Amino acid sequence: MTLSDSKRIAGVVGWPIAHSLSPQLHGFWLREYGLGGAYVPLPVRLHEFSVALRGLARSGFEGLNITLPHKEAAFALADECDRAAIATGAANIILFRGERVRAQNSDVEGLAASLEEELGTDAIRGGSVVVLGAGGASRAAILACDSLGAREIHVLNRTSSRAKDVVARLSAHAAATIGAISPDEWPALAPAVRLVINATSAGMKGRASPTVSLESLPRDAAVCDLVYNPLETPLLARAKARRLRVIDGLGMLMHQAVSAFESFYGIRPEVSASLRAHLEEALRGGA
Ligand code: NAP
Repeated sequence: MTLSDSKRIAGVVGWPIAHSLSPQLHGFWLREYGLGGAYVPLPVRLHEFSVALRGLARSGFEGLNITLPHKEAAFALADECDRAAIATGAANIILFRGERVRAQNSDVEGLAASLEEELGTDAIRGGSVVVLGAGGASRAAILACDSLGAREIHVLNRTSSRAKDVVARLSAHAAATIGAISPDEWPALAPAVRLVINATSAGMKGRASPTVSLESLPRDAAVCDLVYNPLETPLLARAKARRLRVIDGLGMLMHQAVSAFESFYGIRPEVSASLRAHLEEALRGGA
């Protein structure tokens, strides 16, 4: 591949990175909008992140997407941050602005846009939501639900101390009431829950899925899984079997990429059915 001086280059930094769908996603848009820029996967180990970031800044990159395990480090290294990055303490976008590094978090807006698209604007307004997990994705999920007007957000995590830490961190940034719950509290809560979000890494290919019971959720409840490989996780399969509404992780992935692509290449791209079909094909190993 040859890049002329006028073409913009960006990429995704993570470890491991071979599984990332971001090059497929941004590559689709680069072709669709007839742009000659490039988007490359960049495998970087945890201890090499800050050195790699400085090198990439000097190598003409517009910016980077940041994935596991670097999202917290990206936030910590930045000179300036957007509100979502400050609230979550994590960044999935780095932009190089001259000598300055700007960190942004579009996971929050990405999930909110996906939930709105699938459920409508008011589906969780004034309602109760349960978020499984207490990592970076959980923090983004809590803020996304808050932005959609949820009244109560309950955080359930394998390690309860981490759930309490997340609650302590995010309570100052959210209008909703946020609390940590234990598995014992689930049966009493479930009948009033409008949305369950799996923000753990459980359910990823080859790993067991969350075992939380969906039996006593209301009939109009929805279940969202942020895991997108496999696309239909065992949790979503159980939700479908109960005829609950389901939202897979591809929606968030596509929507979080919109503002990154716009920052890197100057065009706000559209999330379309053909983009989804392309990514589904890539997940099946065909693209
Ligand atoms: P993370 O910071 O490493 O957190 C992982 C969370 O999963 C922790 O709460 C951990 O619990 C929990 N967990 C891991 N294995 C578990 C198991 N077997 N049973 C129960 N809980 C388990 O990861 P993250 O960045 O938050 O990402 C979480 C998931 O979200 C990943 O699958 C990631 O791919 C996905 N994600 C998707 C998108 C998207 O666009 N769709 C965006 C971001 C993330 P402990 O605290 O007890 O260890």
